[in-house]
Amino acid sequence: MLNIPIGGFCGKIKWGFWAHQRINRLAVFSLPPEMQVFFKTQINYLTENAVNPDKRRYAVVGEAPRHYIDAEAYGDSALYKLPYYWKEAVEKYGEDTLALNGTVPWAIQQYKFQLTEAFRQKNPRRILRVAADLGHYIADANVPLHTTRNYNGQMTGQEGIHAFWESRVAELYGESYDMFVGAAMYEHKVAHRAWQAVRNANAGLDSVLRFERELSAKFRPEQKYVLEDRNGVIVKTYSREFSERYHQLLNRQVERQMRASVKMVADFWFTCWVDAGQPILSDFSHFDLDEQAKKEEKEEKMGWLKRLFSVRTESDN
Ligand SMILES: [Zn+2]
Repeated sequence: MLNIPIGGFCGKIKWGFWAHQRINRLAVFSLPPEMQVFFKTQINYLTENAVNPDKRRYAVVGEAPRHYIDAEAYGDSALYKLPYYWKEAVEKYGEDTLALNGTVPWAIQQYKFQLTEAFRQKNPRRILRVAADLGHYIADANVPLHTTRNYNGQMTGQEGIHAFWESRVAELYGESYDMFVGAAMYEHKVAHRAWQAVRNANAGLDSVLRFERELSAKFRPEQKYVLEDRNGVIVKTYSREFSERYHQLLNRQVERQMRASVKMVADFWFTCWVDAGQPILSDFSHFDLDEQAKKEEKEEKMGWLKRLFSVRTESDN
C-alpha cells in the first residue's frame, strides 16, 4: 500500500486546479460594474484558464520559476531583504540564480505591468489571457509551500504534503469556506503587496509542516492513508480522519490563504484597469474569441501536453 504514490502530486505544482479556478472565478464578483460588464461574461474563460501556467510549466522555457520562491536560498529573513524590483535583483544575483530559486514576487509585478498594457491597448483577448495568468501567480504566492525548497516535505519525511494542503484539504472543506472579500481596492504599492503575500505565506509554513508531523506521530500509516478509486485509478491519499484533524489544527489557514488570494487578484485586476485610464469595457460585453483564436488556444494547449510527455518522433529512433 505504501508504495503507491500519493494521489494528486506530480512535481512542484500548484494550488490544486480546483482552488486556482475558484480563486479567479470569485475575484470577478469583487470588481466594479464597469469591469464586470466584460469580466462576468468571460467568467468561464477566466476560470478554465486559471490553470494554464501549471499546464505549460514543464513545456515552456522560463515558466517553472514563476510559481514559487525558495526563501531559504538567500539566508535569514530573505523575504525582507531581497530587492523588490527585478532589475535590482538581477544586478545583485544574476538571472540564473533567480530562476533557480523561483521568481513569483517579481512575476506578479511583470504580469501586473502586462495586464495594464493590455487594458491600454483595449485588446480583449490579451486582457483575458494575462488576467487569467496573473490570477494564477498571485494565488501561488499565497501558498506557504511555494516559499520553500522543502515544497513537498521531501526534506522532512513528509512527502505528499503539497497536494494534501492545497488540493485534498481545499477540496474536502472548500465548499464551506467564507470567500466574501468585498469590493476590489486600488493597490498603490504593487511590489510591496507582492512581497507581503509571500511573507505572509511563509509565516504559515511552520504550522503547515509541524501539524502534519505531530499528527503523523499519532496515526498508524493505515489510518493516515486510504486507497481511493478515482475514475478507475487507485490512488493513495490522506484519510478523511487525518484530513479532518489537520484541518482543525490549521484553524482555517487554507481558507484564509484562499481568501487572501481572491482579494489580491481582484485588487490587482482593478488596479491594472485604473492605471490604464479606466478604458470602457462595455464595448466587449459581447466579445467572444473567433474560431481562429479558439483553434490557436486549443492547439497551444495540446502543444504543452505533447511536450510534457515528450513524444518521441520517428527521427529520434
Ligand atoms: Zn502554479
